[in-house]
Amino acid sequence: MKKITRKKKRDKQKEINFFGEFLRIKNHFFKDINTKLKKVKDKRHQSYVEYGTDILLFSVIMKNITAIESMKKMTVEFNKDECITNVAQTLGYEDLVELPHHDTINNFLKKLNPIELEKIRDYMIRKLFEKRCLEQYRLLDKYWIIAVDATGLVSYRERHCEHCLKREYRNKDTGEIEKTRYSHYVLEAKLVIGDMVFSIDTEFIENEGEEYEKQDCEINAFKRLAQRLKNKYKRLPICILGDSLYGVEPIFQICNKNKWKYILRFKEGRTKSIWTEYQELKEVETNKINGYTWVNSIDYKDSIVNVVEANLIEKEIEKNFLYISNLEIKKKNVEEVVAVGRSRWKIENEGFKNQKHIKNNIEHQCCEDYTAMKNHYLLVQIAEILRQLFEQGYELIRGLKAGIKEISSRLLESFRREFITVEDINKLNKRIQIRYL
Ligand SMILES: [Zn+2]
Repeated sequence: MKKITRKKKRDKQKEINFFGEFLRIKNHFFKDINTKLKKVKDKRHQSYVEYGTDILLFSVIMKNITAIESMKKMTVEFNKDECITNVAQTLGYEDLVELPHHDTINNFLKKLNPIELEKIRDYMIRKLFEKRCLEQYRLLDKYWIIAVDATGLVSYRERHCEHCLKREYRNKDTGEIEKTRYSHYVLEAKLVIGDMVFSIDTEFIENEGEEYEKQDCEINAFKRLAQRLKNKYKRLPICILGDSLYGVEPIFQICNKNKWKYILRFKEGRTKSIWTEYQELKEVETNKINGYTWVNSIDYKDSIVNVVEANLIEKEIEKNFLYISNLEIKKKNVEEVVAVGRSRWKIENEGFKNQKHIKNNIEHQCCEDYTAMKNHYLLVQIAEILRQLFEQGYELIRGLKAGIKEISSRLLESFRREFITVEDINKLNKRIQIRYL
């Protein structure tokens, strides 16, 4: 591989109009997205409305992609003629004088039904499925990989809203309640495409009200999410990746019923009888190859599961991986199954990055309204799809070998300094060639 010198890199970056290239990617993959942003159901009192929903939403998407930490800072950073013109040209407005203030945007997000943003995300994911070039990332040339994981959004000492999850911490000796926390969690389903992870569905883990018999939890949230995912993508061949929490009978049942495959981390404590049987059988089974061991067809309640173990030495460190799956493990697929199981860390990383964005929005902005919080969360997911396609899906940018931070700040710089015109956008749309690694 040819090494790119720092000087060359600077020169090359100067030649690229980052914002223009970003629009090119956006239009190539999602040509109707502007219309979708404009047509969300708007509950605001129309006689007071100054900005279209597309302007409000696109501003937040740009804020997220350019990694601006807070809504307040966005208002400051975007307060430039270039930004106003660029937004106007992008969305097809002739007379835009100002961009909306962050309070205007947050007030709008407090009223917007999150379903509206979910619909936009669904549109984007469907468009991605249409692109044949992504098919090579399927597992065993068939299954789209979907990783599930829950992350915390916010936590408070006082009750924040009626949907908060409540947790009491007790003193080990006296049993007295030492502290109480009220928090919000979200379960994400992410489509894994090579190095990219795209939010395909979101389920908020929340209580229905302050009174409940049993609090909501990750497994229950997964049941709701799975149902919706199946309704939305009826015939899509899916393989679910999850941590050891998911290695239980209800999850096996859901996946089997939906004709989904699963690869889940496997720990002794989660399902003891499978563990015991696996330990006994692996001594007599002959399914062993290059550090991989597996046992197929272990009976467990109403399901049949397979277990695969890998003992691999990487950089002189011995590593052990253990998964439970309904894919029949064979010599020819064992390496791929384990590699895909291991790729689940990506969603954890992404989840963490997203979480930081959301926390900033909520904390800096005092936008503690639960609906606005959900909408901010979904706008981060939408922006993340665009950001990743921009950074990785595209040879020109990928060739720079720049980090995420660098690309985000280049994009911000370009958005604030260079005017883009409708002619530019049309020209950019014409000459496009997108290749994936
Ligand atoms: Zn709450």
